[in-house]
Amino acid sequence: MHSNPTADPTLILRPDRSVPPEPPVPTALVDARGLTRVWGTGSTASTALDHVDLTIGAGEMVAIVGPSGSGKSTLGAIVAGIDRPTAGSLVIGGTRLDRMRDDALARWRARNLGIVFQDFSLIPTLTAAENVELGLELAGVRRHRRAQARAALDRVGLARMGNRLPAQLSGGEQQRVAVARAVARQPALLVADEPTGSLDSHNGEIVFGLIRDLAATGTTVVLITHDPVLAAAAPRMVSLVDGRIVDDRVRP
Ligand code: ADP
Ligand code: MG
Repeated sequence: MHSNPTADPTLILRPDRSVPPEPPVPTALVDARGLTRVWGTGSTASTALDHVDLTIGAGEMVAIVGPSGSGKSTLGAIVAGIDRPTAGSLVIGGTRLDRMRDDALARWRARNLGIVFQDFSLIPTLTAAENVELGLELAGVRRHRRAQARAALDRVGLARMGNRLPAQLSGGEQQRVAVARAVARQPALLVADEPTGSLDSHNGEIVFGLIRDLAATGTTVVLITHDPVLAAAAPRMVSLVDGRIVDDRVRP
């Protein structure tokens, strides 16, 4: 192919006013292509995620559902930059996460991410309030961390528990501290893996409400849950089976 020397390259930049403008396309915050995670090698290899393509718009809230072992937590850990795919690409906010060095990835997580993972526990030697404050500090919040931490604990109903160590809290209370820690920093991306798993229905609703409020103020939310009621309340639901997306629907 050779170019036409008489063609004016600026022509393509002029809008054609006879055509109505396209509605704005929402920017994808998360763009996963062919995301694959294989555990083990050879005859013992097992595929936890199998060529997952997933695009999530900025400010979107997506519930990830599926039976136990379908790859939900694996997907969540990769999107959160805690695990890496064995194949495929993951771009978040224009950054190619799967190629990032470990130290850069750790900084990226500290700046952009809120996580509530069942096995990502609180720091045992810090009080509930200090755990939340540390999250704010890592996110680069410089002022009023103590007050913001107290306010976040108040929102999960733990205003009076700020001075307790994790060991002095029940499992459900610890989970709410983890939610307060993630929510306080108003992250660009929140990845929550069964955030209501050890909560009674009252506290589950409070936590779900907080997460939905975050999405309403611009945070992109990936909510992993096996609770069909919660999943149905999310604006979009992606279903996994055997590491593959089998359904992706937006609530009418
Ligand atoms: P879910 O969260 O939907 O229950 P997971 O993502 O935890 O599913 O697991 C998906 C598959 O990957 C399962 O078959 C599980 O056994 C496997 N898997 C997860 N973590 C590991 C690991 N650390 N080592 C080996 N296999 C794993
Ligand atoms: Mg899981």
